[in-house]
Amino acid sequence: MEARHYRIGTCANCDGPEITLQTPLFCSQQCRQAAELVRYVRGCRRDGRDQLADVQEAMWMRLAMVLGGGYPERQRVVGAETRAEVFRRAGGRCEQCGRVLDFDQSSGDPDSIATIQHVHGDANELDNLKAFCRRCNIDDAQSRFVPLQRGSAAAKMAAELKRRWSAAEPLRLCDHDLEWRASWQRLTKTAREWLRTKVDA
Ligand SMILES: [Zn+2]
Ligand SMILES: [Zn+2]
Repeated sequence: MEARHYRIGTCANCDGPEITLQTPLFCSQQCRQAAELVRYVRGCRRDGRDQLADVQEAMWMRLAMVLGGGYPERQRVVGAETRAEVFRRAGGRCEQCGRVLDFDQSSGDPDSIATIQHVHGDANELDNLKAFCRRCNIDDAQSRFVPLQRGSAAAKMAAELKRRWSAAEPLRLCDHDLEWRASWQRLTKTAREWLRTKVDA
């Protein structure tokens, strides 16, 4: 693989051919989030944030979610009114440990940042939502992680992602935070045009 690898008409993350007009750069949510994670970790490593405990935790959380198939972003976005109602109902405290929630990140304590916890699955109904502090949210997520089986597809993907975020130079175009930010919109347009000419042909 040459440096800054990307070939139009394929997934920028895995080279798979399954791209569509809606998502012309990545074949799946998992691939898009995998590349996002590689860029995030590379950025953290560059400015030394990767040494901070809460950043390390966030990196491992995101890796676990990517390995588990990706985080279902759209389904999980809880509307502002519902969020406010959940926090009101909880009296501004974590419903797991009781600590006072930090809504505007003014406490300087990352553990007490207010989060919304889904009890089961992705439903955004009030009775499926709880107010959790960030600490309890992370602890809960970690309690659900299963260890990687040696030789499994997930273990191979984890090794590949680590190789990419540790590489001195980005191995793929989508691993390069600055170049990707500068070019993904143009690439999206180009890839869509490419797909259209393929359909028309
Ligand atoms: Zn892919
Ligand atoms: Zn808590």
